[in-house]
Amino acid sequence: MKQHPLSCALILGLAILSVTPLSVAEGLPDLGEVAQGEFSPATERRIGESVMLEIRRDPAWLDDPEVSAYLNRVGNRLSAQSEESRQDFEFFALRDPTLNAFAMPGGYIGVHSGLILAAASESELASVLAHEISHVTQHHMARLISKSGQGQVTSLLALAVAILAARSSPDLAMGAAMAGQGVAVQNQLNYSRDFEREADRLGLGLLERSGFDIRGMGSFFERLQKSGRLYENNAPGYLRTHPLTTERLADMGNRIQGRPYKQVPDSLEFQLVRAKLRAQEGTSRDAVTEFETRLRDRSFAGSETAMRYGLAQARLRDGNFPAAEKELGELRRLKSVSPMIETLAAQLRLKQGDAPAAVAILRAAQPRYPQERAIAYGLVEALLAARLPQEAIRFTEDDLLNYPADARMHVLQAKTYSVLGKRLQQHRAQAEAYALQGQVPAAVEQLDLAQKSGDGNFYEQSQVDARLREMKKRMADEAKQAREAKQK
Ligand SMILES: [Zn+2]
Repeated sequence: MKQHPLSCALILGLAILSVTPLSVAEGLPDLGEVAQGEFSPATERRIGESVMLEIRRDPAWLDDPEVSAYLNRVGNRLSAQSEESRQDFEFFALRDPTLNAFAMPGGYIGVHSGLILAAASESELASVLAHEISHVTQHHMARLISKSGQGQVTSLLALAVAILAARSSPDLAMGAAMAGQGVAVQNQLNYSRDFEREADRLGLGLLERSGFDIRGMGSFFERLQKSGRLYENNAPGYLRTHPLTTERLADMGNRIQGRPYKQVPDSLEFQLVRAKLRAQEGTSRDAVTEFETRLRDRSFAGSETAMRYGLAQARLRDGNFPAAEKELGELRRLKSVSPMIETLAAQLRLKQGDAPAAVAILRAAQPRYPQERAIAYGLVEALLAARLPQEAIRFTEDDLLNYPADARMHVLQAKTYSVLGKRLQQHRAQAEAYALQGQVPAAVEQLDLAQKSGDGNFYEQSQVDARLREMKKRMADEAKQAREAKQK
């Protein structure tokens, strides 16, 4: 997306053809009671969904269920404290060394890996998420649009696109903003302070009520500002989209001052996620050397477990499996317990061609961590590698009863059906995955293929027919809504 942030595919996602990018950032006006703007939660969600289709195709998309599960755990712990309980959130990571995070309409919140690595504590990371959550719950983007008198879906989509463009390339975003006829850049900058202050204030409340250290917000933003000075005119992306004034810092300081000091230890998961991201940075050799050096010099803040885990991940990436196994042995010796260690152990076995051992590890881990999606995904992959597709299909069927909205599991089920040569079921499962990601035309196409496959029984055929009718109706409804939004 860095190369084509205003790509047509994104715009076509909503079947809206004429979009003028408007404005860069989330600095938005305070409209008080007109909080919702003119957009229904469903409309905001669909705009966010269409932007997400594009983000998932971006090479920077970090398709790691453990990292996103972690972000969602922290994010949902914070958003559960919000008064706006109806809002759904989805948190995701992008592989990008710059310090940035951003919120899309509909509750989609992206975080750069660089920002996760720059956070000195879990509370610091949580403070950024809390700030973004507050932009969403206050409908800041929608309020900016309605203030400008352009209550159109196109404007909100264009704003979302512009924020994405600002993610890594300020010049492009600026160009996009200048080209827009709607919200003047100047207005946007004037209004931004109120919204930033509101997001800080509400974010601090979320942080405090969910048990994080509220000082995390002050310390992280201060560090961001310092690094901004080093960058001269090229401030970190986060400061471009969330302008940080001395006034804002002072405000935050005042709110934090006098509150009881609270030491909040970082979770092991936070440390493991950071180690995993660090192990993927630079060359694999560099990553190995860094973890080795820090272990040797004992120069690390958190636990030895996280360092050993990071070294094992770096070794795995480097292709040195015996050395990775050795670190795994150290983790076992330290009696470190985490589902992330189990998936690592299974992956190591798989890489060495020992699929049955990977199956055994994940089968043992699954009842211990029934809610860990990465374990469930890993188990299906391992069962397929061990040539046990029947068991894999049984597992996906049971699993989807509990997690019917898990698109990734539907994809794994489609893959398993394809191994079994069941074409109707394969396309039906793939259709569900597409439908869950808002790709209705693609879902219809898969259901068409399922209908024509000719290898289903009567019951399966009628299920597919019914689903196809539903999806065609949804496609027609969405096209109609998009036409109306365009005319508005
Ligand atoms: Zn902000």
